[in-house]
Amino acid sequence: MRFFLLCSLVLFAAASFGQRNCGSMDYAGRNGITHLYNNNSLPAQSHRDTVTNEILTVPVVFHILYNNSSQNISTAQILSQLKVLNDDFRRMNQDASQTPAAFRPAAADCRIMFCLAQVDPRGRPSSGIIRRQTSRQSFTYDDAMKFTAAGGDDAWDSRKYLNVWICNMQGGSLGYATPPGSPADKDGVVIQFNAFGTIGNLQANFNKGRTTTHEVAHWMGLKHIWGDATCGDDGIYDTPQQEYYHNGCPSFPQMSACSPNNNGDMYMNFMDYTHDACMNLFTHGQKVKMRGVFAVNGPRNSFLFSFACDSTLATGAPLPQDTTTIINDSTTSIMVEKDWMVYPNPVLSSIYLQGINGYELKGQSVTIFSMTGTLLHRIQLNSSNPTVNLSFLKPGVYLIRVGEGKMIKQRKIIKT
Ligand SMILES: [Zn+2]
Repeated sequence: MRFFLLCSLVLFAAASFGQRNCGSMDYAGRNGITHLYNNNSLPAQSHRDTVTNEILTVPVVFHILYNNSSQNISTAQILSQLKVLNDDFRRMNQDASQTPAAFRPAAADCRIMFCLAQVDPRGRPSSGIIRRQTSRQSFTYDDAMKFTAAGGDDAWDSRKYLNVWICNMQGGSLGYATPPGSPADKDGVVIQFNAFGTIGNLQANFNKGRTTTHEVAHWMGLKHIWGDATCGDDGIYDTPQQEYYHNGCPSFPQMSACSPNNNGDMYMNFMDYTHDACMNLFTHGQKVKMRGVFAVNGPRNSFLFSFACDSTLATGAPLPQDTTTIINDSTTSIMVEKDWMVYPNPVLSSIYLQGINGYELKGQSVTIFSMTGTLLHRIQLNSSNPTVNLSFLKPGVYLIRVGEGKMIKQRKIIKT
């Protein structure tokens, strides 16, 4: 008992004295996936590369796991975190001006943005926020928060969504991330509920949303700036070598055993361990590394084909396994004007059409267009509940139209 109390006190002390405790490297070590941080190449997943300076948009789903009401954080708190991500990865953070002059030329706008997922994996409208009460009082690095059966919440398709689980972590850990190439059902970021966003009841030194910025950067393949070894290498050309991590809120310059010049360590980099208020940049080299995971053949290339930020893609169509249809839900105004459904969306091979509210599909023409307006396919429907085989289409977004002339009705569909 005494030993247990002592251990608890030590952990409590580590957290309360404000030392950052990121579990990503510990997690990677335990799971034998440390090498993934050095590997930007996986089997080809798609057909498009990133374009220079294209703004990459990552759909995010937040899984809020709460054991008590204080852990069921407000939507405003969640939105405050989303804003921090968008500011930090665009170098639009207010404290960008705090970057020491010597390091300002290295600071980069990563041109990566984040949205709340507007469409769920089944093509239905979504807020991008899931709230689930759990009987677990706290979680550890065992990934239980990622599985509904273990008291967590299952990941959404991690090829198209960044999963962020917000929960109560044991022992003062602020969070951890999986590197690119991790198992799909565990892929994402875990954040301590009171080190998340900028409003709400937050830990004193971790109240500016930088824990999530740091962990999402791990998720995009970045290592800690000191390379997780004494005078280690983070694999980034423009982050100076430094002996170890910095805590608290240092002042410029900070020299250490292997500082390459008088500018010393880049302790204000998002990948060091300083307080939220004292970190403010990613470098050009870190930008290149992170954008690389989205490039063609990169492990997160599939995100270039995720359209989950586009709410117009949500058809609201009931899936075959659904027992209740959304069209009977009077609160779902999106369905009022609709008289036909198309599902599943996204579609793998065949898509089903169904007329509703008395709308007859039999005899109508169906056409498939590319998003640039090229006609790709035309058939005449000979059934009221037809199936259309789309296996010939490459993955991407298309328009499916029913009818002719002024009577055309259309939907966007995603082919996976
Ligand atoms: Zn970390």
